[in-house]
Amino acid sequence: MSLSGENNIRLPVLFVGHGSPMNALGKNDYTRGWRSMVEDLPAPEAILCVSAHWESEGTLVSTTDRPSTIHDFWGFPEELYRIAYSCPGSPACAREIEKTVRNTHVGEDPERGLDHGAWAVIRWMYPDADVPVFQLSLDRTRPPDFHYRLGRELSSLRDRGVLIIGSGNIVHNLALADMGAEDEAYDWAEDFDSLVAASIRDGQHEDLIEYGKMGRAAQLAIPTNEHYLPLLYVLGAGNAREPIAFTNSKVTLRSVSMTCVRIG
Ligand code: ZN
Repeated sequence: MSLSGENNIRLPVLFVGHGSPMNALGKNDYTRGWRSMVEDLPAPEAILCVSAHWESEGTLVSTTDRPSTIHDFWGFPEELYRIAYSCPGSPACAREIEKTVRNTHVGEDPERGLDHGAWAVIRWMYPDADVPVFQLSLDRTRPPDFHYRLGRELSSLRDRGVLIIGSGNIVHNLALADMGAEDEAYDWAEDFDSLVAASIRDGQHEDLIEYGKMGRAAQLAIPTNEHYLPLLYVLGAGNAREPIAFTNSKVTLRSVSMTCVRIG
C-alpha cells in the first residue's frame, strides 16, 4: 500500500484515554465513546498509534505486516490474555514516516506488535480488524516539546488517509489510584483534567507542553509523563482552527482520567 493522498479527506486526529486494560474485555460507556469518535469517518488507509506503552531510546516505527497482540499487563483475568486483535500492519505506511519526519531519525522495529494502549482501544473502534495498524514509539530521552514538534511533522499523514491516535491518560497516577472507586475522583485530578481540557479548547499549547509549570495538580497527575506525551503528538498534529470535541470526560479510580479529544 502507498499513501497517494488521492480521494482522501483530511482525517481528524484523536487522543484516547485508555485507562485499565479491563476496558478491552466488555462493552461499556468508555468503549462506546471510543467507537463514537470514528463512526462518521471513512475507513482509514491505516492507523498510526502513539501509545504510552511503547517507550524506547530513539524514535522507532513498527514495520511488521502481522503485528502480534502484546499482553503487557500483569494480574488480570485469564480471558484478557486470550484476546488477539489480528489486524494487518502497514510496513509501507511505516516507511512513509521515515521519509516524512525530517527533524529526527526514525528507526524501524520489524518485530514489535501492538501494546494494549493500541489494541484495547482500536478493537472497539474497528472490531473487524480490517484497518492496518502500526505504532510509533516514545523516545524517553527527549523533552516534551520534541514530542509536540514530532506530532506536527506527522500532521500531513492525515491528508493521506492515516488516522493518528495518541493513547494515554491526561491524569495517570496509579500509586494513588483506588481500583474499587470507578465513580470517584480526587479534586486535584478533576481540576487538572478540566484545566487541560480548557487549555486544549483555547489553543494554549505552550502551557500544555510546559505542563511542569501548571502547579501541584500537574505533579500529581503526571508523576511520569509517558501517559501524557501522546497528547502532545495529537496537539501537534492538530490545528487551532479545527473543531475540537471531547468524549468520556471523566476521572475514574480517583486518579485516572478517561478524557478523549478529537481534533478535526
Ligand atoms: Zn496505560
